[in-house]
Amino acid sequence: MDHVECVVAGAGVVGLAIARQLADAGREVVVLEREGEIGTVTSSRNSEVIHAGIYYPRGSLMARFCVEGRKQLYRYCAERGVPHNACGKLIVATTATETEQLAAIAARAANNGVDDLRQLSADETRALEPALACTGALLSPSTGIIDSHAYMLALRGDAESAGAAFAFHAPLQNVAVTGHGLTLTVGGETPMALGCKLLINAAGHDAPAIARTIAQMPAERVPTPYRAKGSYFSCAVRAPFSRLIYPVPVAGGLGVHLTLDMGGAARFGPDVEWVDRFDYAVDPQRAAQFYPAIRKYWPALPDGALIPAYSGIRPKIVPPEVASQDFVIEGPADHGIAGLINLFGIESPGLTSSLAIAEHVAALAAAG
Ligand SMILES: Cc1cc2nc3c(=O)[nH]c(=O)nc-3n(C[C@H](O)[C@H](O)[C@H](O)COP(=O)(O)OP(=O)(O)OC[C@H]3O[C@@H](n4cnc5c(N)ncnc54)[C@H](O)[C@@H]3O)c2cc1C
Repeated sequence: MDHVECVVAGAGVVGLAIARQLADAGREVVVLEREGEIGTVTSSRNSEVIHAGIYYPRGSLMARFCVEGRKQLYRYCAERGVPHNACGKLIVATTATETEQLAAIAARAANNGVDDLRQLSADETRALEPALACTGALLSPSTGIIDSHAYMLALRGDAESAGAAFAFHAPLQNVAVTGHGLTLTVGGETPMALGCKLLINAAGHDAPAIARTIAQMPAERVPTPYRAKGSYFSCAVRAPFSRLIYPVPVAGGLGVHLTLDMGGAARFGPDVEWVDRFDYAVDPQRAAQFYPAIRKYWPALPDGALIPAYSGIRPKIVPPEVASQDFVIEGPADHGIAGLINLFGIESPGLTSSLAIAEHVAALAAAG
């Protein structure tokens, strides 16, 4: 049986950031990825927004890692030439009641260390984005967009330059705790047993299933996975906006928002649909709910402009009736298994938070 020091299971954006961080610290790292390429699951099915860190509960890991991660991510993109644009975002109120909610959103953001929000009147908002219908808005200048695939390629390149090795079509199937560390059963094209001292379980939707293969894992420390699908529609006409446009958040999500890709094309979504299987097809019928939601802030959206685009599925660890969840990142002090770090529920803002999560995981790993 081969032995390595560290194994990262999952080459999504979070596993890649962790592999880079550990390899940079001089550790021997092997990344096991079930698919044939990096980042083909949730990491390539999202809004590609660099979130400011506005909405998350104070003191949550999401709040902390989003704010820290966003700053690190902008620096990283600048240093590594990853395409990005700090285009800013408007949170748009369309009723008097929503206008009143803006102050509370700004206060929550300030609690999280996001202190650059500016409240704008309707006229000030339309001076920035003339096509908007609104009663007021919050401007978040530090929200932006990123080419997430270019980012993941840069992370992989860094990790490999620092000595990390990648195995594709290499699903981690089982983890056994031995006297000397962990023994991993790896399936796929070249099945093998692999010994390691440190396993980072960053397998996204499948992280709970991997944790459950470990006989010694306390059952209460492995969450039940749930899935919330979000569908996106692209726009057949050029949407006349240069910033991201978000409604005031609704229960269970951020509302149908407008984001831009690096080419300036608009896409709308994601909505929230709880599902029990992985089907990424976008149901064209869902457009019927998108039109009225978008027209609240962009009344000129033409009929027939919405085109089914793609979808992503949020790796939830709470059922639909629970309003919010946090990232769960647990090491030996939490579950009692030496050399194991589990990451559960890494949904949005996981892309924004990836570098901060990686730093945190590396610190947990160093603590033993
Ligand atoms: C609709 C939607 C919109 C979002 N928008 C944003 C946004 O705008 N900004 C933001 O910051 N975040 C956003 N997110 C969140 C972000 O996309 C995720 O937090 C992030 O991609 C999670 O990365 P990950 O590496 O943990 O998971 P994944 O990308 O899912 O990677 C996990 C990897 O593990 C692999 N794997 C699974 N099982 C095994 C196994 N047994 N062995 C080996 N490998 C395995 C998978 O193949 C996969 O490659 C959004 C998410 C969704 C769903």
